[in-house]
Amino acid sequence: VRTAPGPGRCGLCGQQRQLTLAHVPPRQVGNHGGRVQRAPWVTSPAGAKLGSFKAGPLTVYGLCADCNNLTSGMDDPAYIDFHKEVERYLRPTMRRLLLEPTQIPARVAPGLVARSVLAGMFALNDRLQEHYPEFADELRDSGADRRLPDELSLRLALTSGSHARVGGPVMFMRVLGTRELHSPFADIWFPPLAWCLTSSRPAPSSLGPEISDRWADVSDWIRYRTETTVDLRDLVRRIEFASAPQFGADEWVTMLGDSMAAVEARVVA
Ligand SMILES: [Zn+2]
Repeated sequence: VRTAPGPGRCGLCGQQRQLTLAHVPPRQVGNHGGRVQRAPWVTSPAGAKLGSFKAGPLTVYGLCADCNNLTSGMDDPAYIDFHKEVERYLRPTMRRLLLEPTQIPARVAPGLVARSVLAGMFALNDRLQEHYPEFADELRDSGADRRLPDELSLRLALTSGSHARVGGPVMFMRVLGTRELHSPFADIWFPPLAWCLTSSRPAPSSLGPEISDRWADVSDWIRYRTETTVDLRDLVRRIEFASAPQFGADEWVTMLGDSMAAVEARVVA
C-alpha cells in the first residue's frame, strides 16, 4: 500500500508513470477527513507498529491518472449507491423490519460495483497486475468480457463498528482462541461493507480456516456487463458479519508481505 506520491508502476496498466491519489473506497461513502481518522503501519527493523491516528481518508497512490479515472464515471457511483443502500438497511429502525438481518434487499449493479472494488484492490497491491496482466487489461477495457482468474476469489461481508482498513498482501494468524487465518491479496474494510480478494485454493488446514471462507462468494459479479441493478438477495443468499483482525492485538500474529502493508482507520459517525 503506497501512501506517497511520485513515479511508480501503475497497478492496472503496469506502466512506469506518475502515480495519483485514489480514495479506496470512494470519497462519497464518507471516506474523508471529516469522518475518518487514519493510521498507517510503520515498519522498522524492530518490527511493525501502528502510527498515530490523524484525520484523513483511506487513500493510496497505486494508479496512473488515466487508470484512476476509469471507474469514476459509472463504477464508483454504483459502488456509492450500493454502500449507501446497505447502510440504510442496517440502521436500527430499518433493521427491525428485516426478517433476516443477513438478507438485505439492497439494489446492486454487480458488474459495476465489482469493477470499482477490484480497481481499488489493484491499486492496493501492484503485484496483482504482474500476476494477472490479462485480467488487469480486462478491468481497464470498458467493453471487455471480464472473468476473475480461477485462482482468485472475491468475497463480501458486512462489518459494523468503526474499524476500517485497506491492505495489500499480509498474513494474520489468530494465536489465541479459535485458530483462524486472514491472508488477503488485498482487502477493503469500510463499514458496513468488507471485501477480500483471496486465493481460491484452500489454505493449509493446520493454520485454521481463512476468515473470508465464510463470506459470500462474489467472484462472478465482474462478469455482469449491464448497468442493471438487481436485488442483492438474488445474488447472495446470506451475508455474514465479520470483524477485521486487530493489528497489534494479542490474539493475532501479523506477518508482513512488504514494507507498508496496510492503513488502519476509524470511521466516526
Ligand atoms: Zn495506469
